[in-house]
Amino acid sequence: MRNGNLRKIVIVGGGTAGWITAAPLARMLCGQAEAGQHCQVTLIESSEIGTVGVGEATLPTIRFYNQMLGIGEDDFVRKTQASFKLGIEFRHWGRLGNRFFHGFGDFGPAIHNRPLWAYWLRMRAQEPTLPSYEEWSTATMMAAGMRFTTPQPGEQSPANAFNYAYHFDASLYGAYLREYALGHGAQRIEGTIVRVETSPENGFVDALHLSDGRRIEGDLFIDCSGFRALLIDGAMNSPYEDWSHWLPCDRALAVPCKRMDPMTPYTTSTAQSAGWQWRIPLQHRTGNGLVYCSSYLDDDAAANVLLGSLDGEPLDQPRQQRFTTGRRKQAWVKNVVAIGLSSGFLEPLESTSIQLIMDGVSRLTALLPDRSFQPALAAEFNRQMAYRYESVRDFIILHYKLGERDDSEFWRYCSNMSIPDDLAHQITLFRQTGRVAILEPEGFEEPSWASILLGLSVVPQRLDPYLDLVDPNLVRRHLMGVHDSISRTVRSMPTHASFLAEMGRR
Ligand SMILES: Cc1cc2nc3c(=O)[nH]c(=O)nc-3n(C[C@H](O)[C@H](O)[C@H](O)COP(=O)(O)OP(=O)(O)OC[C@H]3O[C@@H](n4cnc5c(N)ncnc54)[C@H](O)[C@@H]3O)c2cc1C
Repeated sequence: MRNGNLRKIVIVGGGTAGWITAAPLARMLCGQAEAGQHCQVTLIESSEIGTVGVGEATLPTIRFYNQMLGIGEDDFVRKTQASFKLGIEFRHWGRLGNRFFHGFGDFGPAIHNRPLWAYWLRMRAQEPTLPSYEEWSTATMMAAGMRFTTPQPGEQSPANAFNYAYHFDASLYGAYLREYALGHGAQRIEGTIVRVETSPENGFVDALHLSDGRRIEGDLFIDCSGFRALLIDGAMNSPYEDWSHWLPCDRALAVPCKRMDPMTPYTTSTAQSAGWQWRIPLQHRTGNGLVYCSSYLDDDAAANVLLGSLDGEPLDQPRQQRFTTGRRKQAWVKNVVAIGLSSGFLEPLESTSIQLIMDGVSRLTALLPDRSFQPALAAEFNRQMAYRYESVRDFIILHYKLGERDDSEFWRYCSNMSIPDDLAHQITLFRQTGRVAILEPEGFEEPSWASILLGLSVVPQRLDPYLDLVDPNLVRRHLMGVHDSISRTVRSMPTHASFLAEMGRR
């Protein structure tokens, strides 16, 4: 067993995962030379192999990651051609013609600790003309009006009752973080790894061999090699758990098109006959893609669906990705930790992959090993990541399972498929009682579950009996007051386009 602290961390891969991993590690470890604790962070990437080149919509947690690195928002938005994202608009999910929005943030203030959407359900039962529950979500109303500003400090009000994320150009974000990581002392090696050298004694990775003959040693190896999973699969043989019986889409075609106005402050997800299509607006172009199931749609038909529904002129040929939804059973084995696509893949319906990368890095830094690599650290990392992946998986399956579409074999399969037990419990709980279970405290929160369940038209058979104890007049005044206040606040906000233009001038 080796002693002492890590002296060299080697990151394999320079895609989004590699640079998201390198930046905080460089900041944390490379500057500690004065304390005698210097740890080198080296990233190897291959221009011959390249990156997956997609992954442009995010969740609000990216803001905490950027803040943790001290990255200024104006600079980041300018250099990555970013736009703002208040949530996702779902079209034709559940049934043809259906439309709903998953906004970031809460529905207006709760009454006696009970969520506003629950009172809305009660009132709506008596007043069918009541506006949609979505009108009590600031983020959703901002999106509907194409408005954007950042949350205003101060007391709780509609002006700060929302959250937001970004859409960005993935290659520019990678380049941004590369500059950051190199500026904080990380080293970059351009080369293609052709052999992984493991120790005959304990199976740990000792070194990587590049095609030009170089041998790169390290203590900890982080596998960010994408779907190739060079170390975690190739060298460590960590098995892959296949979830495609629950999430059967296995291919995607992606194509950018010319940007058309208005630049929506949200992602659009449109359900198609055998999958769904994304639309991600950036400042300089719009990203589009079709995620589909090859058992129900062939590649040529998929390309026709995608190219036939762009809202601007295509700027390239569609590029295909093939994948199997699932996760690496153990993402940390011996001295190898997999982060990014090498550790698993969940389709981008709720833009969760980059969040899972950031989550992996933050858990790795919290469980940073020394050179003895105590097995309990790997076990704890694997336990936490399994939990995270499964909770995201269940949230995504929810969108497919609750569909009532019977216009294609694909949708009939999805509505009839069996689902994981926790998700079945969540759906039954909501259907029977109007309550939402918090399955994972760090995962999607109650307003997100409620948005999807209500958006897919699940009407609870019963509601929380406590709601009946609250004076209906008080509830009505509260609901209408919040509604007015959200409408007024949103009307006073700048448009998304003018906010971005102003930011560009600063
Ligand atoms: C269709 C699709 C859409 C997506 N949309 C979203 C989204 O909207 N939001 C989101 O959060 N995520 C999304 N994702 C996921 C996101 O793209 C990835 O999580 C992210 O890009 C990280 O990829 P990566 O860095 O793990 O792999 P890659 O980008 O594939 O990078 C792999 C790196 O490993 C290097 N490498 C591989 N083999 C070798 C070798 N032998 N020697 C040296 N280097 C090597 C390559 O050079 C490259 O630098 C999407 C994914 C797909 C497939």
